[in-house]
Amino acid sequence: MTTTPNSARAAKDVEKDASMRKQKAMMAAHYDRLTSAPETGEKVCDTFVPGNLNELIRCFDLVNNLPEVNAIQSGLRRLSGGYVMEAEKIGHSEDVCTYVKSDIGMMAKGNLAPNGKPFPVPDVLLLSYTGCFTFMKWFELLREQYKCETIMLHTPYMGDGKITPNMIEYMVKQLKDEVIPKLEKISGVKFDIDRLREYLKQSAKAEDDLVHVLQTAKNKPSPIDSYFGGIYYIGPIFGAFRGTDDAVDYYRFLREEVDQRLAEGKGPVTPDGDMGSERYRLVVEGPPNYTNFRQFWKMFYEEGAVVVASSYTKVGGVYDFGFRHDPDKPLETLAEYCLNVYTNRSLPMRIDMLLNYLDEYQADGLLINSIKSCNSFSAGQLLMMREIEKRSGKPAAFVESDLVDPRYFSAANIKNRLESYFQMIEQKRANSRAVA
Ligand code: SF4
Repeated sequence: MTTTPNSARAAKDVEKDASMRKQKAMMAAHYDRLTSAPETGEKVCDTFVPGNLNELIRCFDLVNNLPEVNAIQSGLRRLSGGYVMEAEKIGHSEDVCTYVKSDIGMMAKGNLAPNGKPFPVPDVLLLSYTGCFTFMKWFELLREQYKCETIMLHTPYMGDGKITPNMIEYMVKQLKDEVIPKLEKISGVKFDIDRLREYLKQSAKAEDDLVHVLQTAKNKPSPIDSYFGGIYYIGPIFGAFRGTDDAVDYYRFLREEVDQRLAEGKGPVTPDGDMGSERYRLVVEGPPNYTNFRQFWKMFYEEGAVVVASSYTKVGGVYDFGFRHDPDKPLETLAEYCLNVYTNRSLPMRIDMLLNYLDEYQADGLLINSIKSCNSFSAGQLLMMREIEKRSGKPAAFVESDLVDPRYFSAANIKNRLESYFQMIEQKRANSRAVA
């Protein structure tokens, strides 16, 4: 199925919003800071995106390094395929999460950051465990390699769909008894709770603006794409910048940029320019594929399909149901943040969340991109899909790919499935018109 004007647009250089350029400069500066750590003497904390304690890490003057973000960078730069195979050569199974294998393979090949300089050896590995067992195994591998201090903050799983006072208490106790004393020892910096409060205040400002941006997708046409474009929007806040002035500036800037598009009645910006007319509004569950990111996105925007909400943009924090980092209860808020991240939510909670998106964002249906090597997302997705179809009455579809392993991106298969899915939506519309 092809449409105009979207597919008729002439190919040209990748178009970037001003906010994307701003973010690129922020990321480049961060990588330079990280790779200069051996010269500047700054200490480095490796940690993961979901449940990252960036505000706390900053209280100890530590620079954060996020292995999944590095794997994504390798995927986007088409290096991850070689790294994954390198890790398999060393003995890692085909089924292991490809972020892990990309990271391990990268280490075996010189451990180079996107700026071409080697990543520093971390001073500490800080794991805030938020539902994915792979993170634990990943850090065991890194600990073997780096022989540095390891800290774990355990987050109880939200099996019953709610946060209880006991859960918060349990996590705050770990922060007070384990995490903070160890970070003080490693960094040589005394913990100052007022410093933490200041960073948390900054986080909440950026979070407000991020939510505003994501919720502009409730408009028709949506001025943003909440999956492919959303990945850029979450970059700074889910990465190294939450709690910083840079993040506050970035999200204010992004908000103004998106509001401008909304005022002008424009759709999202794609790598080929403005998307053109909006034909399908989708909710997407699951991470994207990074090795063929543009090709995958193009299959959507060429058809006028815009993603109005996605679960992946909640993997580093769920803010759209009201949670904000709260400087008045600094340790409790860190606990609540970790508890809330998407991978720590039970399947019924995930189903409710996606149903809410289908309704609030007036979406035509749900699409699941099931990631071969990510069990945290993939387990239960078929069950979720059936339940959501049943309860919403809206069509759902399932495609499969992988995060950063190019061997598992079959363009023809995905395109076929998407085309059938768009036909299904058309059919549903025709049926509703006939009934009306
Ligand atoms: S959530 Fe998925 S992608 Fe992330 S570490 Fe776990 S298995 Fe890998």
